[in-house]
Amino acid sequence: MAQIAIQALNKSFGDTRVLEEINLNIQDGEFLTLVGPSGCGKSTLLRIIAGLESQTEGHISIGGCQVDQLRPKDRNLAMVFQSYALYPHLTVRENIVTPLRMRNHKWYQRLPLIGNLMPGAEHRNREMETKVNQVSELLQIGHLLDRRPGELSGGQRQRVALGRAMVRSPDAFLMDEPLSNLDAKLRVHMRTEIAQLHKQLGTTFIYVTHDQAEAMTMSDRIALMMDGELLQVATPEEIYRNPVDVRVAEFIGSPK
Ligand code: ADP
Ligand code: MG
Repeated sequence: MAQIAIQALNKSFGDTRVLEEINLNIQDGEFLTLVGPSGCGKSTLLRIIAGLESQTEGHISIGGCQVDQLRPKDRNLAMVFQSYALYPHLTVRENIVTPLRMRNHKWYQRLPLIGNLMPGAEHRNREMETKVNQVSELLQIGHLLDRRPGELSGGQRQRVALGRAMVRSPDAFLMDEPLSNLDAKLRVHMRTEIAQLHKQLGTTFIYVTHDQAEAMTMSDRIALMMDGELLQVATPEEIYRNPVDVRVAEFIGSPK
């Protein structure tokens, strides 16, 4: 779990300013949704938090530590994208276990065949197996562990992607429109699943969507962005009842 603090953050690509003076505190264990129209800067902000992109100005701290100088893998955050980015040639079990293998420090420990001959391999393998079992039980994908991504439905693949993110016990989950490739019915179903997962794990979630309904139903708080600016950060109820301006009211669909 982690509190994430974003201070006076600006981002430009060349001469184009895409994030303007973003200040945002995300509480420990909170489900915060970044919502706003396409192109307003949501993905850029999430990628900067993850360390995949660097800010032009400003600071980010996670759990009280300044992370500006830390590489993505040292931030202990899990990123889940809309394209599931699973390895097609690996089974579900192998897909889920890959992040744990990568955490082993010596390169040869990361290779299943050589790694298994090295001292401590049995212990490491047992730990990894326990973790995969916990995660797959929580996500109800135990029966899919020996299949490959090509043999799964969209919803199942999204669950495997979640499993792969969860297996490292990250301090926070960063999700960029994770449901936008699914059909409408499944999307609504997965919303509930992700919200439940958040309750069970109690970990901080930052969830990005352009879908107002998704934001309203899943979030503890909503951060509404437009044109690179954060217009309002509030609970779904507050933002619906007391939008700060007409742009927020229109986006959220508040009564006139
Ligand atoms: P959103 O996720 O809200 O749709 P993005 O963060 O992807 O918005 O993009 C915000 C703005 O930044 C857009 O105008 C986009 O064209 C621009 N942008 C994003 N990434 C880059 C990049 N690597 N180089 C130049 N411009 C970019
Ligand atoms: Mg985006």
